[in-house]
Amino acid sequence: MPHFGALEAGGAKMVCVVANAQGKILERTSVPFRIPETTMPELLNFFRGKGVAAMGVACFGPVDLDRSSPTYGAIQSSPKLDWRGFPILRRFEEALGVPVGIDTDVNAAALGEAVWGCTRSVSDSIYVTVDAGIGLGIIINGRPHHGMLHPEGGHIFMDRRADDPMVCGVCPYHPNCLEGLASEPAIERRWGRRAEELAECTAVWEMEAYYIAQALCSYIMVISPERIVLGGSVMRQEQMLPLVRKEVRRQLRGYIQGKGLDNLDEYIVPVSLGGDQGVLGAVKLAMDAYAERGGLL
Ligand code: ZN
Repeated sequence: MPHFGALEAGGAKMVCVVANAQGKILERTSVPFRIPETTMPELLNFFRGKGVAAMGVACFGPVDLDRSSPTYGAIQSSPKLDWRGFPILRRFEEALGVPVGIDTDVNAAALGEAVWGCTRSVSDSIYVTVDAGIGLGIIINGRPHHGMLHPEGGHIFMDRRADDPMVCGVCPYHPNCLEGLASEPAIERRWGRRAEELAECTAVWEMEAYYIAQALCSYIMVISPERIVLGGSVMRQEQMLPLVRKEVRRQLRGYIQGKGLDNLDEYIVPVSLGGDQGVLGAVKLAMDAYAERGGLL
C-alpha cells in the first residue's frame, strides 16, 4: 500500500508527516520556519528515502493555484518576504520525483476535516482559523474551492462595533477587515496585552465574538455551508465558541432557516483532528495527486 508525504507549511514551523491512505500518520517531524535555503534541505532530508508515492503541501498564502499558470505552486505576495515567489511545488517535484499536490493551509485544514473529521458527513463546509491571521477554507461538493485564486475570507469588510476602542485595524491593506479587527495582533493592539493574558476579560471576548459572528453570518448567507469549523489559537479560548454561537443567532435575526441553524452546537463546531487537520488535508492532496497520475489507492 502506498505511503504519502505531507507538509503543513505555517508561519512558525513546518510540520512533516508520512501517512497511509487511511490518514494514519506513521512518522512525523517539525522543522523551524526559516529561509527557503535552509528550510528546504531539512524538509527534503525528512522525506527522502521514505518511498513516498506522492506529496501534498498545505501552504501559507497567497499561493498560485492556477494549474495553467507558469508559476503554479509558487508562493505569491506573502508578507514572509524570503519566501515570496518561491516555487515550493516545483522544488518538491524535482527533488523527490513524485507527483505533488498543493493548496492553501486553510483549504487543506478544511479538506482534512471533510475527509477524516467533523465535516465528513456533509458535502459543503467551511473552516475558519482565527490566529495571527484569519483564513477561510471552503469545501464545495467535497472539494476545496479555488475560483480565480482562492478565498481570502479573512479580509472581508466589517461593520465596526460602535464601542470598539481601536481606531484602525491591524491589516496594512484594509482599515476595517476581519483580520485587521479580530486576529490575535488586533486583540493585542486593541487591549494592550496579549490575547492569552486576557482570558478573564469578558469585554475582550464579546468584542471578538461580535466580529467573528458577523463574518460567519456573511459566510452563511453567501456560501450556505452545512457545517462551520472554527480553529486557531483564539478559538482555543473556552468562552469563545458559545459566545460566537450566541452572536450568530442574534445577528442573523431569524432570517435564515436552515436545518443546521436549529442546533448551533452541531452547526458551529471546534476542530476534531487535534491540530492535525491541516497536515491530514495535505495527505489527501498527495493522494489526489497520486490518483491523478494513475496511481491506485
Ligand atoms: Zn485586510
